[in-house]
This record gives sequence, C-alpha cells and structure tokens, in this order.
Amino acid sequence: GPAPEADTEARQWLARHSGKFGHFINGTFVASASGKTFDSFEPATGTLLAKVALGGAEDVNAAVAAARKAQGPWAKLPGHARARHLYALARMIQRHARLIAVVEALDNGKPIRETRDIDIPLAARHFYHHAGWAQLQETEFADQVPVGVVGQVIPWNFPFLMLAWKVAPALALGNAVILKPAEFTPLTALLFAELASAAGLPPGVLNVVTGEGETGALIVEHEDIDKIAFTGSTEVGRLIREKTAGSGKSLTLELGGKSPFIVFDDADIDGAVEGVVDAIWFNQGQVCCAGSRLLVHEGVAPLFHERLKRRMATLRVGQPLDKAIDMAAIVAPVQLQRIEGLIAQGVAEGAALHQPKIELPKGGSFYPPSLLTNVQPTSIVATEEIFGPVAVSMTFRTPEEAIQLANHSRYGLAASVWSETIGLALHVAAKLAAGVVWVNATNLFDASSGFGGKRESGFGREGGREGCYEYLKPKAWLGRKLRPEP
Ligand code: NAD
Repeated sequence: GPAPEADTEARQWLARHSGKFGHFINGTFVASASGKTFDSFEPATGTLLAKVALGGAEDVNAAVAAARKAQGPWAKLPGHARARHLYALARMIQRHARLIAVVEALDNGKPIRETRDIDIPLAARHFYHHAGWAQLQETEFADQVPVGVVGQVIPWNFPFLMLAWKVAPALALGNAVILKPAEFTPLTALLFAELASAAGLPPGVLNVVTGEGETGALIVEHEDIDKIAFTGSTEVGRLIREKTAGSGKSLTLELGGKSPFIVFDDADIDGAVEGVVDAIWFNQGQVCCAGSRLLVHEGVAPLFHERLKRRMATLRVGQPLDKAIDMAAIVAPVQLQRIEGLIAQGVAEGAALHQPKIELPKGGSFYPPSLLTNVQPTSIVATEEIFGPVAVSMTFRTPEEAIQLANHSRYGLAASVWSETIGLALHVAAKLAAGVVWVNATNLFDASSGFGGKRESGFGREGGREGCYEYLKPKAWLGRKLRPEP
C-alpha cells in the first residue's frame, strides 16, 4: 500500500508553505512581482497540489542580479571550500531522500520505487561526484575559468535528477545559477532550494524561478546571463538556439530521442524482454533515451513479441505511492492525449496495437503499457518521439539492415544492442549514431560518464570530466613578467 508516514511528511511540508510557493531568489522565497501564480496538479488524481509563483521579467531580473553578485565571491572560493558545500548538499539530499522521493512522485506521477531507488540516489551521487571535481579544480582545470551566470531550464520527466545534472557541475566549478523547473513539476526544485539554504549555501549562488515557457524564454533572452543549459524538447531547443545565436551566450542542449533497441537472433531473449521493460515502460516511457524503437531479428520476432506480450500483462499500473506497482501516471492530461493521438495515427497507418487487459486507476492520467507491431520505418510512430509507454517494433534480417534502420532517425541520443556474440555487438555499437550505446543493457547512467546526444538530440555532455568543461571557459595567460591571479 501507499507509504503513509512519508506521505504525512510530504503533506506537512506542503502545509508548512500553505500549498503556496514563491521563487527562491537571493536565499529567500519571494512571491512574483506581478503576484501571479500557476497551479501544479497531482497527475495520479488530477487534484491541485500547490500554487506556484509565475515568473515574469522583474523576477528574472532579480534572480540574475542576485546570481551576478554572488558569482564572483563563489568563484574565488578555493575548490576545496566549494567541495564542502557540494558534499553538504549531497548529504542533505540523502538525509531527506524519503521526503524528496514522495514529493517527486506526487508532483510528477511516477512510481515511488523509481524516485526512491533511482532518481534521488543518482542525484545525491551527482553532487558527491562533482564535489570531487570542485576539489580538483585548481589542478585539473588550471587554465579554465567559470562561465559565470548560468540559466538552466529543465523538463518534467526527471525533475530532481535533471536539477542535479545541471546544478552540481555549475556550482562545483564556480558558476551561479538561475534554474527554471518545468511547470508540471516545480516542487522538488523548491524543496531543494530550501534544503540548500539550510545546508548553508550562500545566497544568490542558486536561484529558482518558477514559471511556464515564457519564463524560460525570459531567462534565455536575458542580457546578463553567460550561458544557457537546456534539457527538453527538440522543438524548444531549436528556438533557444535561434534566440541565443550571436548573443555571445554559451549553449548546451539535451533534447529528444527515438533510441533503437536492437535484438539479434542469438540474444538472451528473456534478458532482452526485461531490457524492454526497463527501456520503454520505466517512468511510463517519458524518458529522453527510452528504447522506443525495437528492432528485432526476423527469425526471433514472433517468439520475442509473444514473450514481451506475456510480460506486459504482468506489469502493474497503479498509484505512485504504492510500492508494489511498476507504472503510475502520465505527467498531465495533455501528454496523455498526445500519446493517444500518435497511437491512433500509427494504427491508421497499419500498425497493430497490443495492450494487456488491465484495469487502470480512475481519476488521473493513466495509460497501459503498449506495443505496436507491423510498423513501417516511415510511420509517424517510428519517427516521432511518443514520450509514453509505447514500444514500436520493426524487424530486420542482417546486421547491416539493423544498423541502417537504427540510424534512420533525426535523433542520436542512445542505443541498446542485444547479442550473445560480443564481436557482433561491438561491431554494430561502433556504427550507431548515438551519444551512448549500451550492450546487453539499457538506461545505465553514472555521474562519471558524460551523457548527451548527436544530431537533433542536441550537443554538450552532462557528467564526468567532459560535463565539467561545459561550465568552464579556457583562458590563456600570455605576457612578460605576468603572473596570473591566484
Ligand atoms: P519542453 O521543451 O516543452 O519544456 C522543457 C522546459 O523548457 C520547461 O521548463 C518549459 O517550461 C521550458 N520552455 C518551454 N518553452 C520555452 C521557450 N520558448 N523558451 C525557454 N524555455 C521554454 O519539454 P518537456 O515536454 O518538458 O520535456 C520533454 C522533452 O524533454 C522530451 O523531448 C525529452 O526527450 C526531452 N528530454 C531530454 C533529455 C536529454 O538529456 N536529452 C532529458 C530529459 C528530457
């Protein structure tokens, strides 16, 4: 059943704020200058969770001014001193992991098992990892300086983890941040701000401005911001690239995907079936690197689809706080409609839709695990990112055909290859256009490994040494009798 204790803690936290949240600017919570708010709903029930400040130009200006003022002193701290702050943030996340996990599950609609076992621990790990880089900054990045004031705009699918991916490296390397969480899921960013403040992070180093796309656009266009880091749709990413062109701002984009999941005829079939569960039904398929295109060798396709359908029927769809469920709610009704619309188009184009006969909870935005077979590579469901629990399956005959099909996409974020012949798997992996390739595995992430895409999946990396470079600028020191400032 649901976790009543932690639920109480989360409800108490919401009650302490009277269900109303301001922006976090210069170390305190403030209402919007305009007084405007927007509503954040619980996707699993459709009920109002909180009223949240809607950021306008004055709020963004205030946040940028606070960040600008804080950034110099923050960057002047020795790396080991900033590291202490990052360690403190990591410990704070661990200490309040349960509360964060519950608030995240309520606000996003995802299963508590995922927030508790994956999202929040990975976020803490990200802060620990980057504390290490802060400590090493003077030796490892001696000829680099921080970028400065950074605007970070993030999506709703992994609200807390995306915060960690953005905030940890930025702060570690001496930047100050204005973060805008997605409008569907603003709460854990505000909870984090509160925890960061309690952990002693200096005011202005981290600012959270909540709002919709327009608030994000105000950040993107602000003149006194040095860099924009964006994770979200390819459509908005393209807009941001246009708007920042010629502005002198640095830019990284982590965008959409339509990642291939290739099953060869010598694959461990049961292992690959579990891989699909993880690749496309994890987080209701709302995952940028979801293995949404199944490419299955013709020889094993009937068996593979049969086992997959049997496994689908055992997936339990239920309330986010129920620890015994596998899938919970889709983030919002509008996203649910988008999924339904794309599936209807796919079926109209000839695809066969398979869904287990399971009862869905009433009242919220729920969708069953789904499989489309008999799909043509040109079908909209094979080319568009559905961002829902929908596996789209196609078949191939030869490794070359698999590679060709896999690379037939405008995206290039991730890929997964399943074969018991390591030579074949590595041959194929090398030819795939993707930022990450998993072999006999899927959805593996680590703070030490740079994550990011190719093509229309964006550019830039998050995690590891390469992720650090995204928050640094090289600076050459040349001259006679010139000594660089310490
Ligand atoms: P989205 O692009 O609609 O929104 C993302 C963020 O951008 C939100 O905070 C939103 O308010 C803001 N925004 C919207 N319009 C804006 C504008 N004109 N200017 C500035 N900001 C604006 O995306 P979404 O629906 O929240 O997220 C889903 C998408 O994110 C999917 O395409 C998914 O693949 C992608 N994603 C990518 C990664 C990755 O690392 N590559 C990770 C997670 C999600």
